[in-house]
Amino acid sequence: MSLKARIVELIAAQGPISVAQFMTIALHDPQEGYYATRDPFGVSHDGRKGGDFITAPEISQMFGEMLGLWLAQAWDEQGRPAHPLLVELGPGRGTLMADMLRALKAAPEFLKHAKVMMVEASPFLRAMQQETLKAHAGILWQDQFDPPPGRPVFLVANEFFDALPIRQYVKTARGWCERMVTARDGELAFVLAPTPVPSAIIPESRMEAPEGGVYETSPGALALAEDIARLIAASGGAALLVDYGHDAQKQQAGGFAETLQAVGDHAFAEVLAAPSAHDLSAHVDFVALEQAGRRGGASVHGPIGQGALLQALGIELRARSLATRNPANGSQIAAALQRLTSPEEMGTLFKALAFLPLSAATAPGFARAGVPHAAA
Ligand code: SAH
Repeated sequence: MSLKARIVELIAAQGPISVAQFMTIALHDPQEGYYATRDPFGVSHDGRKGGDFITAPEISQMFGEMLGLWLAQAWDEQGRPAHPLLVELGPGRGTLMADMLRALKAAPEFLKHAKVMMVEASPFLRAMQQETLKAHAGILWQDQFDPPPGRPVFLVANEFFDALPIRQYVKTARGWCERMVTARDGELAFVLAPTPVPSAIIPESRMEAPEGGVYETSPGALALAEDIARLIAASGGAALLVDYGHDAQKQQAGGFAETLQAVGDHAFAEVLAAPSAHDLSAHVDFVALEQAGRRGGASVHGPIGQGALLQALGIELRARSLATRNPANGSQIAAALQRLTSPEEMGTLFKALAFLPLSAATAPGFARAGVPHAAA
């Protein structure tokens, strides 16, 4: 039975399901789920377009190198705590970790004592990661983030939080009602839950949205961010969360647009049309993630634009040195640099947020970027 038919059957038995439950099934169903069964990433290193979408580590090795050096610097600034965990959430093909580990050869003391942990729900992608990282012994894989206690956590997550399920609420004349997924004549359709749930809308400033306004929240993402912050506050470490997300100013001014999107073959598609055929994701709510980090007791830095962060970490220098060593690839390296940092491309839509212990004064690359980028 197709995944769609199974969802229709589930809805017949239990009634409409939340958007979050729909996303979970569409992305992670063991037989057909989008992530569970395929490699979604398009490669453009060699100019070949493939897959459904492309992420920063797949655009250039420079991205992972900068993130690896960020972690090493944070570790160094904290007085080089013993037995660090080097964690990546949602590692895709394993490219980012491979690039980080190569760059971290410049910090051999960190590497020598670090335990590498990959948190990956998809057995398919986990196998790809194992292949990518086969030269590295002793890597631990987990389905869910559950680190051994007491060790400082040095963590990165790129385009992970946007893949976590969201719930949606729509402002109606009755109040805020949750948007659900129902089935009609074998097809999936959106429907509003009849009873308003005002307590689901956080912060209260959003209560006053116009009719038709949509509020999105990812309880799973916020709980996880708070957990990470709590671990870092208690045992030291650092987290760098990079993702595409709302403009904070627009949001505070009452941006109530929905952002859940389906992407396949580098183009947008219908969210409900063919569950599991498309990637589903939503803008990351950086204001909410920031608050979750503070609730967990961490010091929170950013968000700043991905471009500003990469530039502060020295990506232009790195691009020049790669191009000097490999002149034939010069234009490709320049194009990748542009794509990762330019405000017209990924430079400001993608943002970085850092969690550090309260004792840490600054986050590497964040201090100099200053306020102008924070709203970008
Ligand atoms: N970081 C990679 C991949 C981003 S796609 C890159 O930048 O290229 C999202 C990744 O998160 C995939 O590896 C997906 O399988 C994984 N993922 C999504 N939801 C997850 C969950 N709930 N738990 C663990 N991994 C998850």
